[in-house]
Amino acid sequence: MSKNNPVFTVVVPMFNEQETVNELYKRLSGVMDQTKEDWELILVNDGSVDETVERINDVRKEDKRVRLVNFARNFGQQAAVKAGMDYSKGEAVIVIDADLQDPPEVILDLIKKWREGYEVVYAQRTKRVGESKMKLWTAKLFYRIINKITDIDLPLDTGFFRLIDRKVVDVLNQMPERHRFFRALSIWVGFKQAAVPYERAERFAGETQYPVKKMIKLAVTAITGYSFWPLQMATYLGFISSGISIIAIPLIIIFRLTGNQTFLGQATTLIAVLFLGGVQLIFLGIIGEYVGRMYDEVRGRPMYIVRDNDED
Ligand code: UDP
Ligand code: MG
Repeated sequence: MSKNNPVFTVVVPMFNEQETVNELYKRLSGVMDQTKEDWELILVNDGSVDETVERINDVRKEDKRVRLVNFARNFGQQAAVKAGMDYSKGEAVIVIDADLQDPPEVILDLIKKWREGYEVVYAQRTKRVGESKMKLWTAKLFYRIINKITDIDLPLDTGFFRLIDRKVVDVLNQMPERHRFFRALSIWVGFKQAAVPYERAERFAGETQYPVKKMIKLAVTAITGYSFWPLQMATYLGFISSGISIIAIPLIIIFRLTGNQTFLGQATTLIAVLFLGGVQLIFLGIIGEYVGRMYDEVRGRPMYIVRDNDED
């Protein structure tokens, strides 16, 4: 590490957050100044269609520690955080949401754990204020499914908010996968990990950028990225239905020979064909999901495109 690199980098993904930029900067810089160390703040503008960039540039005029990475379009929070980490220079990188739902003051607790020698310190929500029942319920279901069918042990109620040591940041930055699920990836790499509990606040302004559609997409990324379970299900189901037919074939032959009419007629055939046709189509779709993702990775398009940043 060269001498003039900061100790801390704070990475914030921003999508249509014009109202929060100022307040975010004020609270973050207040907290980071308390560390008495050098720090930098990287604001990643993820293709906002409001005045987020203008607000960021206002702040940068006042404080040179604030840096901008400006995307060519909206690439999503996963890409924005990846970009922030790629551009980071600090010995520890702190990732935090822009909307102040993650209170910046908690960063001091994260840093304390880091100083104790932990390399991934994730913030864990104990309480969530102002979020709908639906959101809480789907989040819970999500963790349950992920932990059941994947090999990773995703800690409950964690988000992006965490501190990552430079060693781990370098490892993460080396990973080329485009369909990223940061929360799980930073657990998957191992290292010394610790949790810090905190209370999640309400959004400072604006509204959530995560409609149900995006959440489903993320869930599929998480499942396909860390498990072959959906593919293996086809094998299990195949064995079950072959098993049934092996029993059924001799039975029906015996029924027919003894004059029993139970399985006579079209309906039985129709149900069997529809059921198997449906199951096959579902698994074709699941295989397609994996193949499509493979195609995406093989094609090797960048995960994000930067229009401009403070280095050029
Ligand atoms: N965000 C982003 N790109 C997107 C969507 C969201 O960079 O396409 C940022 C957003 O500005 C915020 C963070 O990701 O800083 C979390 O988003 P949000 O608060 O909408 O998510 P929620 O807290 O509702 O899960
Ligand atoms: Mg939020």
